Parts: sequence; structure tokens; C-alpha cells
Amino acid sequence: ARSSLKVLVTGAAGQIGYAIVPMIARGVMLGPDQPVILHLLDIEPAAEALNGVKMELIDAAFPLLKGVIATTDPIEACMGVNIAVMVGGFPRKEGMERKDVMSKNVSIYKAQASALEKHAAEDCKVGKPLNSPVLVIANPANTNALILKEFAPSIPEKNITCLTRLDHNRALGQISESLDVQVSDVKNVIIWGNHSSTQYPDVNHATVQTSSGEKPVRELVSDDKWLNAEFITTVQQRGAAIIKARKLSSALSAASAACDHIRDWVLGTPEGTWVSMGVYSDGSYGIQPGLVYSFPVTCKKGKWSIVQGLKIDEFSRAKMDTTAKELVEEKSLAYSCLN
Ligand code: NDP
Repeated sequence: ARSSLKVLVTGAAGQIGYAIVPMIARGVMLGPDQPVILHLLDIEPAAEALNGVKMELIDAAFPLLKGVIATTDPIEACMGVNIAVMVGGFPRKEGMERKDVMSKNVSIYKAQASALEKHAAEDCKVGKPLNSPVLVIANPANTNALILKEFAPSIPEKNITCLTRLDHNRALGQISESLDVQVSDVKNVIIWGNHSSTQYPDVNHATVQTSSGEKPVRELVSDDKWLNAEFITTVQQRGAAIIKARKLSSALSAASAACDHIRDWVLGTPEGTWVSMGVYSDGSYGIQPGLVYSFPVTCKKGKWSIVQGLKIDEFSRAKMDTTAKELVEEKSLAYSCLN
């Protein structure tokens, strides 16, 4: 039998936490043959609710779930974990300045970085045998990931990523709805940059599988105006639209995207398909190294690599630079909060 993988979920008593833990326990994240042990972390005020989540996980009698630790102690939570899904974070409340939220969250990520660094499984640090993924979801996701990387120097930068797969999936969904095709027939959209409203959803390389072969989205959608304006803003503003409709932020789609992110990273992307992930920039596409920026990536054997050589037109270049500029500003704001 395969040995269990320990999966850390922080902020596990929250909305996304509640949606993601049953997915992980059912094998949606790591496959139907991989047993898991869940390490659930939340803060003291959420301890009772967290225990309720643990009770429900027991009651669900998931065959793949080999154990649940529910704790408010970051050290106990991080102990020996193979995969870390960082959902916990301070939400932006009415009247709060961007800087206030940033300050709270970067301090949380700084503290959790040291718990992870000291106590996560050896393979989380050296990237063997699995690339031991760390995925940051809590906002500002890119910058929190950057802080985590800075304060956990023994975890390789290749292991620390942030979630833009939800934005990627939203883009696939919009194309599928607009062309009335199956979402599984659409591929290779790209989310460039920040997981914020400056992100750039790019369809210039996206294709659709049709009965007469693979066709570029640009060829199938005759309405350039829609692709260059409304499509982009719809994807950028989708989070706000969900809040307006549900009076709560997206949770099931965020949880599902997080499972997609880790699954593709660990098990590999299908041949000819790329996905979007927030990763540490190596300078590809002229994006300043040292930012966590969303790029198109393919994954193989637990390692991601940025898709190279895509043609970037002037329209895209400007949008990619705008979102990079926002990340540079966020980075300096984050550092000023820590100093
Ligand atoms: P959610 O589970 O809805 O969201 C968690 C985080 O994910 C938020 O920071 C949210 O950012 C972010 N996020 C990123 N992408 C998305 C997306 N596409 N859609 C929705 N959210 C997204 O929040 P809850 O408040 O329900 O739960 C948070 C949990 O974290 C609570 O249980 C709380 O106790 C815990 N917590 C932990 C802390 C710690 O570890 N020290 C500190 C504070 C809270 P945004 O707010 O911008 O939507």
C-alpha cells in the first residue's frame, strides 16, 4: 500500500477550507489511490469551528483519509507535512486600507514561513521525491508567497507558488459559454501577473477542439471587441460578481482550482496543455526576477517550467507590464510593513 501524504490546510475552518478538505479526502487533489492525512490549522477564535470540521471529516468516513489533526499550533500543524495549502489570512474588512490588510497578512506569512521551514517534511525542503508543493491562496496571494519564500530560505523557490488557476479556469469557462462548446475542449488560455484585478487574461494562444480539428479561439470568436475588452474585465471582476451574487466570496471554485493546481503540479499537465501558476520569476518574458508572477507553465514529475517563446503583441505587453508594476509596488509595501 502507498504511504499517506500529509497535507496542511491553513485557515481550514474558513469557507475555502470547508470546501477543500472533502475534495482532498476524496482524492480530487492527489488521485484516487493516494491516502492522505489532513493537518488542519486555524487561529484560536476558530478552534471550535475547526473541531466541527474534524468531526464532519470523521463522519464522512472517507476511505482515503488516514488521519486528521486539527490544531491552532503552527508547529504541530506543519510537522512533517509533504504539501502545504495556505488558505488562512486576514480578510479585508470595510474601511480597512490596503496597507492594513497587507501588514496583517505578511506578518502571518512571515511567522508561518518559519514554522514550515523548521518542521515540514525533509522533501518539502529539498524537493524530493515529490516536489512538495506549497500553494498560497490567501490574498494578496502573490506577495504572501513572496514573503513565505523570503522567510523560509531552505525551501527552494521552485516549491512556493500562488493560486491563479481559478482565474485561468474562469477564462476557460467564459470562452466555453461564449462559443457554446465544452469547457474541456478549450485550452491554453493564460493568466499573466497578479491575482488581482490587474491580472491579464490572454486568449491569443488559446484553442478549441472542434470536429474539424483544433482551432484558435481568435478565429472562432469573431467579435474582437468582446475578446479585447469585456472578456478581460469579466474574468478580472469575476470574484466581485460572485460576492455580489452570493454575499460571500467564491469558495467551491477556489477550492476546486487549488486541487487542479496541486494535481497538475504533482502528476503533470497533459501533453500539449499548459496551465497558469503564480511562480517565482526567472526573468522570462521580461518580467523582473524576484516577483511571484503568474505565467503559463507545464509540469512534469513534480516540476513546473515556464512555457517559452510565445509571441507577445503590443496590447499584451502593456497589460503584462501593468500587472508587474502593481506587484513591484506590493512587494515594497510588504517590506515596509515588515520593517
Ligand atoms: P475564505 O476561506 O473565503 O478565504 C481565505 C483566503 O483566501 C482569503 O484571504 C481570501 O482573500 C483568499 N482568496 C484568494 N483567492 C480567492 C478567491 N478566488 N476567492 C475567494 N477567496 C480567495 O475566508 P474565510 O474568512 O472564510 O476563512 C479564512 C480562515 O483563515 C478563517 O478560518 C480564519 O480563522 C483563518 N485565519 C487565519 C489566520 C492565521 O493563520 N493567522 C489569520 C486570520 C484568519 P480575500 O479576503 O481577499 O477574499
